[in-house]
Amino acid sequence: MLLEGKVAVVTGGTRGIGLAIVKSFLHHGASVTLCGSRKETVEKALAEIEDLMPGAPVRGAHPDLTDEAEVRATIEETMGAFGGHLDIMVNNAGISQSTPLVSYTPEEIQKVIDLNILSVFNGCQAAAKVMVEQGSGVILNTSSIVSLYGQAAGCGYPASKFAVNGLTKSLARELGPKGVRVNAVAPGVTATDMVAALPEEMVKRVSAGIPLGRPGEPEEVANVFSFLASDKASYVTGCVVSVDGGAVF
Ligand code: NAD
Repeated sequence: MLLEGKVAVVTGGTRGIGLAIVKSFLHHGASVTLCGSRKETVEKALAEIEDLMPGAPVRGAHPDLTDEAEVRATIEETMGAFGGHLDIMVNNAGISQSTPLVSYTPEEIQKVIDLNILSVFNGCQAAAKVMVEQGSGVILNTSSIVSLYGQAAGCGYPASKFAVNGLTKSLARELGPKGVRVNAVAPGVTATDMVAALPEEMVKRVSAGIPLGRPGEPEEVANVFSFLASDKASYVTGCVVSVDGGAVF
């Protein structure tokens, strides 16, 4: 199996792309801690997985991702539960925005900075503290197609994903010599709650530019995470891999 014996932490693992990543990692033989923002949603995701894969090695946590110490504690608990090592850290939790520039409030721009940038930084830092010591590990960040093209409203969202790419490429250079690979996956329009929450007009406009003619499924994005997390991708680092049906805007 692709991820046999590997131990992973996945943030934003309760639904959408993150939950698909958790299921894919389990399917490929990894042990996983899935993180969400609330105990209830974490328990719901764990129950769904138990129904699907009874006895799968998965546990839940709901750390405040803006607090590096809480993320580190989740990693330590994961290592305690699953054999003392951390092989894969997925910083996937994120929110989208569609607010026009002049309507942004300070709270709104801070919210996307906190979750989409600071939390990814914290996840990278907390994981790197363990992985550098181990001399091995893989960090995967969820970027977005908007990190290539920007978007016509909600500029905080693409700005945050440009930052994710910057972190990914920089940390690949910093941590590569220490045995840690760092990559990002940039999904295009993917059929999750996040897309369901966007204005219909925006989704229609974006979908019209997809050569494969449809939004992606979370599982199609998760497949790429599993590949990048595995030893099959042993010479891949510093990449932002698009999974977007060939979309161009
Ligand atoms: P989703 O809204 O379905 O799920 C978001 C996840 O993030 C949930 O597990 C939720 O618990 C977690 N989360 C939200 N706010 C949080 C907080 N404050 N603290 C901790 N966790 C929090 O979203 P999705 O569509 O699956 O998106 C996942 C990632 O993929 C995001 O980073 C998003 O930017 C990116 N992405 C999604 C699409 C898409 O079309 N769906 C496209 C490109 C990129």
